[in-house]
Amino acid sequence: MPTIDPVFTPDEVDSLNAYQHSNAFHPFTCGGDRTDEKHLDGEGRLVATEQGFKCPFCEYRQDWCHQWMKDWSWKSKYRQFPDILRLEGKDATS
Ligand SMILES: [Zn+2]
Repeated sequence: MPTIDPVFTPDEVDSLNAYQHSNAFHPFTCGGDRTDEKHLDGEGRLVATEQGFKCPFCEYRQDWCHQWMKDWSWKSKYRQFPDILRLEGKDATS
């Protein structure tokens, strides 16, 4: 089972937000099942902060994630998507 921690470090925030915008995997989205017009933009994609994930459109908060999402290990799964990496200007081996 993946490790679940309540607080993120700055590096973990970077990893998580890169993950959230990678489009290689489904990102965390607002857990409130919100379907109002404000959530139609980006499907309520959550933003990672050191205090946890926050929905940019409402008060929804989430304070956990999977270990592989915050330690950059998701990028090892990501190497099969070189076109996406190039678009982001990132190196999968870094
Ligand atoms: Zn929301």
